Amino acid sequence: MTADATLDRALGAILGSATGDALGAPYEFQPPLPSDNAVVMRAGGAFDWELGEWTDDTSMAVPILRALADGRELTDESTLDLLVATWAGWAAGAKDVGNQIRAVLGSVEAPTAASARAAARAIHDRTGRSGGNGSLMRTGPVALAYLGDDRDDQLATAARAISDLTHFDPETGDASVLWSLAIRHAIRAGEIDVHRGIRHVPFERRETWLARLDEAERLMPWDFPQNGWVVHALQAAWSAIRHAESLERRLVLAVRCGNDTDTVAAIAGALAGAAAGASNISDAWRRELHGWAGPGEVATAAHLEAWVERATAYAR
Ligand SMILES: [Mg+2]
Repeated sequence: MTADATLDRALGAILGSATGDALGAPYEFQPPLPSDNAVVMRAGGAFDWELGEWTDDTSMAVPILRALADGRELTDESTLDLLVATWAGWAAGAKDVGNQIRAVLGSVEAPTAASARAAARAIHDRTGRSGGNGSLMRTGPVALAYLGDDRDDQLATAARAISDLTHFDPETGDASVLWSLAIRHAIRAGEIDVHRGIRHVPFERRETWLARLDEAERLMPWDFPQNGWVVHALQAAWSAIRHAESLERRLVLAVRCGNDTDTVAAIAGALAGAAAGASNISDAWRRELHGWAGPGEVATAAHLEAWVERATAYAR
C-alpha cells in the first residue's frame, strides 16, 4: 500500500459498508421507501438500534478486518477457525443474527471452520437451499487482503473460502467472488467494474450472472424484493450503484429497496465506498458510527480506520 488515495479508498470500503449498514438498519423489514420519504441516519427499527449503530453485517466483517490487522493469512485454517469462533460468540449474544447464520453457528459441534462447513452443508441438504445474503455482506475486508499486483486468483480463493464457512450454495461464493474482486479493483483503480471477476466464476454459471448484472442495470433496487437471497441482494446493491452518482445517493437508494435494507446498503457501501473513498463520507454520518467489534467491545469509525491502516500495511 502506497498512495494516500489508495488508503482512502480502502478505508472507504469498510466505512462505506458500515455507514450503509447503520443507515439502513432502522428501515429493515419495511416495504420499499418512496422517494418523497427522506432516508436519514436515525435510531430505531425492529431491533431498536441506536443512532449510527451498525448491525450483523459490519459485526461479522470486523473479525475478518481484525484478523488482517493482526497480519493473518485469510486462507489459513487457523484464521478460518478464529473467524468461526468469534462469530459464534457474537451470535450467542446478538439480537439480529440472520436465519441461516444462526442455524449454522448454532449447530456447530465445535467452534472450528470444519464444523461450520459441515453445519452449512447439513442445512443445505436438509432445507434444499442456503443462498442467503449473509456471506456477501461481509466482503469488504476480504478485498483488503490482496491489494498487490496479480492477486486476483488468491482473492477469489479466499472470498469463496470465507463464504463457504456459513453458506454451502455455490452461488453465495460466486457473489462473494464477484463483489470482492470489484471492491479490490475499485480500491486500486478508483473505478467500478463489477464484471471484472466473472472469469473466477465457474464457466457454467457465467452467463447467468452476466444476465443478472444486466437486469440490475435496467431495473431499480426495489425491483429485487427477495433481497434476503444473495442474488437479489447483489442485484439491488448493483442497481443502487448504477442509478446514482455520489456515495451518499447510492446508499440512500439502496436503503429504499425495502426488506433487508441494511444488508443491501452494507453491500452497496463496500463497493461504492471503495470507489469514492472514506473522505467522501459525511462527518455527520461518520461520527455516529459504532457497534459490536468483539466480546464486550464497542468500536467506532476511528477503530475501523486504525484496523484498515494496519490491514493494508500487511496487504500482499
Ligand atoms: Mg443487518
